[in-house]
Amino acid sequence: MVQEKGTISIHTENIFPIIKKFLYSDNEIFLRELVSNAVDATQKVKRLSSLGQYNKELGDLTIQVSVDEKAKTITISDKGIGMTAEEIKKYINQIAFSGATEFMEKFKEANDANEIIGRFGLGFYSAFMVADKVEIQTLSYQEGAEPARWICDGSTEFEITEGNKQERGTDVILYINSESEEFLQENRIQGILDKYAKFLPVPIQFGTRSESVEDGEDEKGEKKYKTIEVPNIINNTTPIWTKQPADLNDEDYLKFYRELYPFAEDPLFWIHLNVDYPFNLTGVLYFPKLKNDFEVQRNKIKLFSRQVFITDEVKDIVPEFLMLLHGVIDSPDIPLNVSRSFLQADSNVKKINSYITRKVADKLNELFRKDRKAYEDKWKDIGLFVKYGALSEEKFYEKAKDFILLTNTAGEYYTLEEYNAKVRDFQTDKNGTTVYLYTVDEERQHSYVQSANKKGYDVVVMDSPIDNHFMQHLEMKLDKVSFKRVDADVLDKLIQKEDVQTHQLTEDEQKMVKEVFDKAINNTNMKVEVESLSAGELPVTITMEEWMRRMKDMARMGGGGGMNFYGSLPDTYKVAVNGNHKLVQRILQSDDSHKVQLARQAFDLALLSQGMLKGADLTAFVERSVQVASGE
Ligand code: ADP
Repeated sequence: MVQEKGTISIHTENIFPIIKKFLYSDNEIFLRELVSNAVDATQKVKRLSSLGQYNKELGDLTIQVSVDEKAKTITISDKGIGMTAEEIKKYINQIAFSGATEFMEKFKEANDANEIIGRFGLGFYSAFMVADKVEIQTLSYQEGAEPARWICDGSTEFEITEGNKQERGTDVILYINSESEEFLQENRIQGILDKYAKFLPVPIQFGTRSESVEDGEDEKGEKKYKTIEVPNIINNTTPIWTKQPADLNDEDYLKFYRELYPFAEDPLFWIHLNVDYPFNLTGVLYFPKLKNDFEVQRNKIKLFSRQVFITDEVKDIVPEFLMLLHGVIDSPDIPLNVSRSFLQADSNVKKINSYITRKVADKLNELFRKDRKAYEDKWKDIGLFVKYGALSEEKFYEKAKDFILLTNTAGEYYTLEEYNAKVRDFQTDKNGTTVYLYTVDEERQHSYVQSANKKGYDVVVMDSPIDNHFMQHLEMKLDKVSFKRVDADVLDKLIQKEDVQTHQLTEDEQKMVKEVFDKAINNTNMKVEVESLSAGELPVTITMEEWMRRMKDMARMGGGGGMNFYGSLPDTYKVAVNGNHKLVQRILQSDDSHKVQLARQAFDLALLSQGMLKGADLTAFVERSVQVASGE
């Protein structure tokens, strides 16, 4: 025994400076730890009472947190099971100190306070991050127990003496050190309690607050108010995730959402998570209204362990694509206090990950089947999320492929299967590939969409920021499907059928037309090609090849390696001149000076329809148009 005592005291001397120094940045969690201990002690006495092992009155079990600015103390006071002097020795002294040797070896590897505290059961000792001296006054629930007092000044030895506590429970008194005086400010403590204790299962009171209440009527018959002091209760002890879904209605879920995120718009819908095997997990995940770009996510999923807030960095526990969701997850089975790499390898975490993915997919599927119209209406908000999920999690794609929707320019919605059935017959080219035409901007690509529709082709709208990736993904997944932007080439080339239009021009004429246009355009990034298109197509169409544009888009979005090469290339366009259009005949028949003028005019019109005609070129175009109109 004596020998052991010696060992303890050596480590006692070493441990506090380490705690203080290494845990400093995260020091507000001392309050979380001490309040959690108070909650545990309270729940223990409740359990003993319900088991009939404690037969006295439980009384008001509210935990009190108080600050005494003058005395520079913070007190956490509970009416839990308390401790006898023997228990203090056992739980407070030995347990923590016996871990000291290991602690000394391992603290170097630890990354943050959470990790150290959790790994070594140092919850109580986190008090020394902010206090010079810590005192415990406690009275055990046990029959005939004597009050006990423990005091420790953090650098040398502890002392156990007779205490003064008259009622069952424990007071932990922190004598705040000079560097930590911020914690003597009410606001600061209120903030920490709001963060960590908001949903603890035992009421936590932090002083009182003023509240305005009705107080009869004045002479004119108008309501009077008075201000009274009411207990400042921090927490909602029964947040909805602890209840059964059957006992909750929509308004309960919405109310809770507003409690979590007071400034957010109402969510679209939610999922109540509830499993107890093979791991324990409860929670509610909400689908927020997403704008069409990834806004900075301020409202994150909050992770709890038995109603104690742990973190809102849920990166490894929640699949990446589900990080867009809001809400809470509570699981005692997630190892919160270990390093990142361990978390990634943890089998519970993996199971939780796939459980959540499955639940989310099931919910979406249910919404889709139950009320397709309502689902379509929400697609604007959830489409981005579903696509992102399909891209990042194979398992999710497998389920989502049944309820992913494509929207066309007519505003109709189709599942992947329905869409394929719709366009397969008419939009399959001579190689058997079904071409899905798409637009990224209906306004700007209006003329192309029009021509496609005129030909009886359908055009889907792909205007979200991840659609580029999403289309590539679908091309990989779907059999013989290729996406092509409506302006990637002339329609006859985008969907090449067997029946090729015959050229009405001779080879010499084609050569001449090309020369005229080259001269009129005078830009090496514009590649002129004379094509034989149907006479009804536009005389000149400017397009950028599908693959080149994709490469450039990827380079722009930061695709690494060889992508940068494409990013540095100038934008090159194809200028398709419709050799079968009557304008070309007119050009051929005109005299030399008018040839170039007409070609330039046709080219500028094509630019104009694409919003590409700007500055001096636009001015020249307007002047030329006036000339042409006045017959010059
Ligand atoms: P942990 O809570 O992880 O066990 P702590 O260092 O926080 O580690 O606490 C050690 C032990 O001290 C607890 O397990 C409990 O037995 C006892 N203890 C701490 N605070 C209280 C309290 N307020 N009331 C009764 N017992 C307590």
